[in-house]
Amino acid sequence: MAFQYCGSLFKLISQLPKHQQTSHSSSALLFKTPPMTPPTPTYFQQAMSSTTDDPAAASTSPAPKPKRTPLLRLELRDLSQPGTHSFLKHLSASNAIEDAVSGVLYWLYKDLPTHCIPPTRSVTLILRPMGGVAYTTGKDFDDDHKEIHFSTDYINGIAEGRKKEEMLGVIRHEMVHCWQWNAQGSAPGGLIEGIADWVRLKSGFVPPHWKQESDGDWDAGYQHTGYFLEYLEKTFGEGSVRKINDGLRGQKYKDGELWEELFGKKVDKLWADYGSHLGKEKAEEEAKRVEEEGKKKDEATSNSQGSEQNPQKMTHLGGNIHYPRRGLP
Ligand SMILES: [Zn+2]
Repeated sequence: MAFQYCGSLFKLISQLPKHQQTSHSSSALLFKTPPMTPPTPTYFQQAMSSTTDDPAAASTSPAPKPKRTPLLRLELRDLSQPGTHSFLKHLSASNAIEDAVSGVLYWLYKDLPTHCIPPTRSVTLILRPMGGVAYTTGKDFDDDHKEIHFSTDYINGIAEGRKKEEMLGVIRHEMVHCWQWNAQGSAPGGLIEGIADWVRLKSGFVPPHWKQESDGDWDAGYQHTGYFLEYLEKTFGEGSVRKINDGLRGQKYKDGELWEELFGKKVDKLWADYGSHLGKEKAEEEAKRVEEEGKKKDEATSNSQGSEQNPQKMTHLGGNIHYPRRGLP
């Protein structure tokens, strides 16, 4: 699958080569949030663009703040990579990383007490040539220090017109892994990935290939689970996904308890309800499409026949029998 940008963060950590778990570089560029903001290097000031189209940024509710302001860092391993050039050309690095943090905290911790936010102390975005898209890991000596590894090869391969949004979307997804709970490592990987893509969805960075689907398992992950979570958010009210994330804090995952406590049903039943909801929605869309096509055909017939149209005439459209409307606006 083209957009498997990361597996379960928490499982990945132990699988990574040692040098990927503990990378340090003297070329690291530091970005610290106010009041100690260092001057922005000149080359980051080119083609700056804001991400104010982000719903979280546009919201009147301020993003929750963690107990300790995290150190945000950027590390460019190879400035000669075209992907590195694209990153610098399309994004304001400091804005992109800070917006990702505040956007994630907004969607996962809005209206929750500060102690509900994980004690992440630093996030380092590392751009480097590698296979895949991106992954997030913690340093082996302290998991509160996170690293997001983002492939410059992948960035280089994104169509020019989508580069900015796709890079922001990937960063937003990975930033979720820096701040979400995982039931002490026991949560299903697909739920972890689903929450990450749900935040990406809510942040407005939806890639064109994403679609809602209800086949397979609820915890297949990524947008497959992300859209299911959005269905729960719409059905059970705003804040439902925040409650799921908070239910993964400080305790092991219990499939039989979490969903019933929050929504009064087992997750399999919720998934089945989601399937029925999607089926109904698709049927309504199809009926609407057929009606629209019928109207267009009526107008075309009316234009060619004037007032002599036979009201009993029936037209077949996509297997449905449509009765032309006369006298309607
Ligand atoms: Zn992920």
